[in-house]
Amino acid sequence: MSYIGRFAPSPTGPLHEGSLLTALASYLEAKKHQGLWLVRIEDLDQPRCDQAHETAILNALEAYGLCWDQRVLRQTDRIKRYEDLCQSLIEKQQAYQCSCSRTDLKSRHALQHYDRYCLLHPNQKQPAAIRLKVEKSLAFKDRLAGHQAIPAEGISDFILYRRDGIVAYQLAVVLDDYEQGVTDIVRGSDLLLETHKQRALQLSLDYPLLEYAHLPLVLAEDGQKLSKQTFATALPTQPEAIIRQLKKAMVRLGQIDETCDTPIDVEGFITFATEVWDIKKVPKVIKNS
Ligand SMILES: [Zn+2]
Repeated sequence: MSYIGRFAPSPTGPLHEGSLLTALASYLEAKKHQGLWLVRIEDLDQPRCDQAHETAILNALEAYGLCWDQRVLRQTDRIKRYEDLCQSLIEKQQAYQCSCSRTDLKSRHALQHYDRYCLLHPNQKQPAAIRLKVEKSLAFKDRLAGHQAIPAEGISDFILYRRDGIVAYQLAVVLDDYEQGVTDIVRGSDLLLETHKQRALQLSLDYPLLEYAHLPLVLAEDGQKLSKQTFATALPTQPEAIIRQLKKAMVRLGQIDETCDTPIDVEGFITFATEVWDIKKVPKVIKNS
């Protein structure tokens, strides 16, 4: 099967150093496999999303030589598809309505780990969320993070559709990846727990399971997690600054060292980066320097 990778930013801010790292790694891994690299805009959290950020992200990707294949998919254009999928899961009794309020969950100590109250006591109370009946979770081997396992109760029956009528990230991502034919995902390891949920849903839907490579988080010099603020600034767009940033990203990803002579034009740099790219060289920890 041919390789299809993707980069899926949320337009809640501009492309920054952290997201460039993910975009670049997923792009190079796809191109190393002569595969396709898709871009998807994950804009379901509408209050936090902004059209101006979306435009800025796409412009930045182009300026950095990361040109995508096929048209950009936008999640808010696909709400009906997500609703239909949710409905079919309910019909097959793989998902169920849950009308528990936050207060209900809190009083039953079921906030973190849902106790299946509404599965055991079905009711038609509204508003209701939709939960996936998680039967089991599967261990998997992440290409970077290694063996990953979590007991089924570690996920519990998570929400596919929120009580306020907003589709949950997990459902949208799983359907999008499936319909876009995505085979491989390279992204940040802050999403490892989500991966277990997405695999549980892929399993329920009988979708093919995907290959994953979760990049290590970028840590501060003292080993602490970097604050979101550190990565909030938009990337520069002047030609020399672009090369500097791309080079910095390649150094962080363990592909080259700082003294490496690289092409000084973006297109040349990306061709060079694709030639030298080897995912096995990505370090266990990335230090912010
Ligand atoms: Zn409930």
